[in-house]
Amino acid sequence: MSKKEKDINKGRGYKVPTCRMCNSKWSWSQAMKQQMKLKSRIVCKYCGHRQYLSEKSQCKHAVLSIIIAFSLIWVFNNTAVPIVLYIIFFILGITLLSLTSPFLMELSSEKEQL
Ligand SMILES: [Zn+2]
Repeated sequence: MSKKEKDINKGRGYKVPTCRMCNSKWSWSQAMKQQMKLKSRIVCKYCGHRQYLSEKSQCKHAVLSIIIAFSLIWVFNNTAVPIVLYIIFFILGITLLSLTSPFLMELSSEKEQL
């Protein structure tokens, strides 16, 4: 593990999703897999209990999606670049959103709606 990675792991702001029932910490890839299922209901692989995305976490996801969507729209409206670049920016935006979402993921043992 590089020094930078160690700093990230102990650094402030870096949080991994933690199961509310058994307190197991999920790795980035586990969180990512759960997100890929695109369900609000998530099952902890350590204890098998149902977990849900917390209201705070759903809110962070929504805000991040809006920021990325608006940045893309702004880029589209204010630059004269070929359509291929627009598509690349769009894919990058989606990728960025999915890669960062496990860090924003917060689990709750009860279903919370925005
Ligand atoms: Zn658990």
